[in-house]
Amino acid sequence: NADQAMYGAKHSGRNGCHFFTAAMRDVAEQRYQMLQDLRVALAQQQFMLYYQPIVCMKSQQIIKAEALLRWQHPDKGIIYPNDFISLAEETGLIVDIGNWVVEQVIEQLTDWQTQIHPEFQVSINTSPVQYRQGYHHLAQWTKKMRMKCLSSNALCLEITENLLMSDKIEVHQTLTQLQEVGLEIAIDDFGTGYSSFGYLKQYSADYLKIDQSFVNKITQDPKELALCEAIIVMAKKLGIKVIAEGIETLAQAQLLNKIGCDYAQGYYFAKPMTKDDFEAYISQKLLIEV
Ligand code: C2E
Ligand code: MG
Ligand code: MG
Ligand code: MG
Repeated sequence: NADQAMYGAKHSGRNGCHFFTAAMRDVAEQRYQMLQDLRVALAQQQFMLYYQPIVCMKSQQIIKAEALLRWQHPDKGIIYPNDFISLAEETGLIVDIGNWVVEQVIEQLTDWQTQIHPEFQVSINTSPVQYRQGYHHLAQWTKKMRMKCLSSNALCLEITENLLMSDKIEVHQTLTQLQEVGLEIAIDDFGTGYSSFGYLKQYSADYLKIDQSFVNKITQDPKELALCEAIIVMAKKLGIKVIAEGIETLAQAQLLNKIGCDYAQGYYFAKPMTKDDFEAYISQKLLIEV
């Protein structure tokens, strides 16, 4: 165990160090194996995108969806992003994975804009590492969209608050440039980071996604409700649209609608689905009543 390892390391000098590094080597080996697997996954098309509908409260329409990454591991089955994204970020592999995601979504959008709605929009999750590549790397995405005759606002980039906190002028500039060419930007998991929302005065996103931890207890806890209401009022005044994440009950959906939330997403409407399941779902649910 770790304590014994530390003790050994402290009290038996150099020999103890061998003991200590054995445990660390296991972890390193596992990570190394996973990194190899991730490279294979990319080359062999083991990644898949699932899509979760985003419902417009006002029109009751579904013309937005969030793309969520899944890894179909040949031995281990489906692996969820929380178990591999951070390694992909640390190793830089997220850049290639992210480009793959965009290519898939562009293909999907060309279908769905004709099949479902001409303004259908898909949002993707992006990592800070991808912004270190600078505007010109990301502008490749809009170039690809133009080649497919898609307007840039068909794609929304979800970013984390951490990216905005990295007070790098270049990041804010890159995001603004992306918006100027028409992409939309959403701040994901709003309210969960170690951040103040001071950055909102320098940078204006198109959407703010209220994290599911706030939505969870909204019908039971008046404080949670007060926070959601305050977030919505603030966003409205800043001209930012609000999406609530993690809605699991009708009561939550109705309450959020009542306090002026613009969009809703969560298991109550649908879980993330494969492309085929999403198409089947949407062909049945033209309008969602809240
Ligand atoms: P996120 O972007 O905040 O996505 C929402 C997560 O909550 C998803 O988990 C979704 O399946 C789950 N969820 C949706 N509705 C409900 C609900 O009603 N209740 C509950 N309990 N959960 C709900 P998922 O798919 O496992 O993704 C986890 C995180 O991984 C995402 O959080 C996102 O930050 C990251 N991620 C997913 N795909 C990508 C990707 O392509 N690139 C990057 N960089 N990150 C990704
Ligand atoms: Mg997201
Ligand atoms: Mg989120
Ligand atoms: Mg999240």
